[in-house]
Amino acid sequence: MTMNQQQTVLVVDDEKQNRTLLAELLVDDCRIALAKNGAQALERAHELQPDLILLDVMMPDINGYDVIQALKADDATRQIPVIFISALDSTADEERGLDLGAVDYITKPFHPSIVRKRVRNHLQSCHHRHLLENLAKIDSLTEIANRRRYDEALENEWRRCSRTHSPLSLAIIDVDHFKAYNDHLGHAEGDRMLRLIAKKLSDFVRRPGDLVARYGGEEFVLLLPNSSSAAAANLGEELRSSIEGLRLPHPASAISPYITISLGGVTTQPSGGEVDPQFFQAADAALYEAKAGGRNRSLWRNDPFGAA
Ligand code: GH3
Ligand code: MG
Ligand code: MG
Repeated sequence: MTMNQQQTVLVVDDEKQNRTLLAELLVDDCRIALAKNGAQALERAHELQPDLILLDVMMPDINGYDVIQALKADDATRQIPVIFISALDSTADEERGLDLGAVDYITKPFHPSIVRKRVRNHLQSCHHRHLLENLAKIDSLTEIANRRRYDEALENEWRRCSRTHSPLSLAIIDVDHFKAYNDHLGHAEGDRMLRLIAKKLSDFVRRPGDLVARYGGEEFVLLLPNSSSAAAANLGEELRSSIEGLRLPHPASAISPYITISLGGVTTQPSGGEVDPQFFQAADAALYEAKAGGRNRSLWRNDPFGAA
């Protein structure tokens, strides 16, 4: 069994002795974070996003049942699995804990090797679930993020930028005359070119939080949180010119001897929790204009629908 050393377990117990005991028990399997009461548990869960929480039930401030309810009521912590470790050992207590969404319920006094094995099992299945979730969000041809991952990132970034009053930028990128490229050189060569373009686009976009995804076909999207409209427009133009600068032969393009892209972008100040559909539409309209204007160009719009 392989264990991921990077996984974090948050141990919540008001008794120092229990915290120490559990931490010592698990130290070889994961990183340990500690909380000594319910309030601290909620705070730590938020900031650390642990892979698992071991939660005591009886604590003086907020009890474990209330803690798990608060965790489950919050989008940011809902998905973190919780194991209760409790001195309340009746079936009713256990049932209540599981009903509230705990993945397991261990009664005190606990048997160290059993706790250790159960925690290992949960960490292992977490790890597998994350692997699968991530696989489902990768485009199989280009191995960059796919549309599902983009949709999810857009929803998250929209909410985050709305909360922090930061701008959000989106670019849609479309390869010029790509049908002709395929028709001329064959689909396999087209695939190879899409992989290469995807690689170049992702090499270019390095800031944490920025995302390049394959939206579908020969279209890519670029999500840039916290960029000014001017900075995003500059990046868009740099992308366009760097693809052109690769001088990848395109034997059948009507506008250039090389592979080129057109790019339409938009920057706005998100507000509210729901993504405004006009955000994508505005970028798409800019792309359409870039195409109509002759292709191999980037066009950027600053808040064309006045969401700010
Ligand atoms: P425009 O400059 O207006 O964008 O012209 P275009 O030919 O690029 O646009 P159009 O939408 O007519 O054609 C897109 C082409 O992209 C169609 C298809 O041949 C090609 N394509 C889409 N997905 C794939 C893919 O996964 N692999 C390959 N090889 N080609 C693809
Ligand atoms: Mg297209
Ligand atoms: Mg195209």
